[in-house]
Amino acid sequence: MVKETKYYDVLGVSPNATEQELKKAYRKLAMKYHPDKNPDEPEKFKEISQVYEVLSDKKKREVYDRGGEQAIKEDASGGGFHNPMDIFDMFFGTHHSSRQRERRGKDVVHQLSVTLEELYNGATRKLALQKNVVCEKCDGRGGKKGAMEKCEKCRGMGVQVHMRPLGPGMVQQIQSQCAACRGQGERINAKDRCKTCQGNKVVRTRKILEINIERGMSDGEKIIFEGEGDQEPLLKAGDVIIVLDEKEHANFKRRGDDLICNMTLQLVESLCGFNKVIKTLDDRELLLSTIPGEIIKHDEIRVVQNEGMPILNESMHKGRLIVHFEVKFPESLAPDKVALLESILPPRDEVMIPNEAEQVNLQEYIPQNYQRQRRGHRHFFDDDDMDDGGHRGVQCQTQ
Ligand SMILES: [Zn+2]
Ligand SMILES: [Zn+2]
Repeated sequence: MVKETKYYDVLGVSPNATEQELKKAYRKLAMKYHPDKNPDEPEKFKEISQVYEVLSDKKKREVYDRGGEQAIKEDASGGGFHNPMDIFDMFFGTHHSSRQRERRGKDVVHQLSVTLEELYNGATRKLALQKNVVCEKCDGRGGKKGAMEKCEKCRGMGVQVHMRPLGPGMVQQIQSQCAACRGQGERINAKDRCKTCQGNKVVRTRKILEINIERGMSDGEKIIFEGEGDQEPLLKAGDVIIVLDEKEHANFKRRGDDLICNMTLQLVESLCGFNKVIKTLDDRELLLSTIPGEIIKHDEIRVVQNEGMPILNESMHKGRLIVHFEVKFPESLAPDKVALLESILPPRDEVMIPNEAEQVNLQEYIPQNYQRQRRGHRHFFDDDDMDDGGHRGVQCQTQ
């Protein structure tokens, strides 16, 4: 039970989300709202980072679950929030040139959506991206050798400083990027400018990266292309980091190296046996059978060894295929068949009915929304608790 769900709502996950689910949610949103991609909503980026910082820390998450946002603000051990950019860099392992001791360009992160089949079988994907490359024509000088002059407007500082009077004896200093040299601190006369790059020192080019998805890679896996980021003169180029994003599969749910699927059985199949065929992610067909007399109960879980996901770098090994059975009972039985069935089934326990016992009606259960009555508290009978604990909707394909 959590006091409030605001933080979870920001990430779009349920309050009982696993660490993996939190990571995935943060990853998707952080990529979407990163200032490089979405400069208009810096507050949103900050909010996502702060929420993730709390929920990804076991202790802080407990504090939040117990006391909500107020408790986080009052928690002295919390020590405030980190810079959203630092959280992002820590998560993705990226660098930003300004805070880097080694002078190098910015890393670029791209998300690549992949199917479970691609992660199972391995695949090669091509990704086209635009990047800055140092101009070959002028060797990144922007013009003829020696044509570069210190910008007169900013005296080579790259910034212009304006003074604005604020009141008696007070001035505000406003710094802005120098418009004449676009913050470069130097400029080239129009006639000496390199024709290829128009004096920009770099040119925009299209580059195709070939991404090798290996068997058994996971959601969130990083594939790094060293030095394939934007080039800048005199700087080591940053990296391009491809982050895999696993798409949901209609039939299987992945948990680590295991694959989970649901299988529906008719009552007759659960009692009298069955043959079922499951199609694997590499299009093979697995036959699942029971032996006569064996019963599979509702909610029972069985396992097929070595039919889960391939294990990365161990091409011969796979995880488990976990089959979760759901038994569909008939709605009713013909009254004249009941005695026949009873004669076959194990006998029932005898019940002593006291004389004063009151006969009552057994009615159909209609769920009620307890949340409306007890704001912010989850109740045992909330609909969320009535499902099968996470693998809802996953259904083995059978023939
Ligand atoms: Zn200037
Ligand atoms: Zn050039």
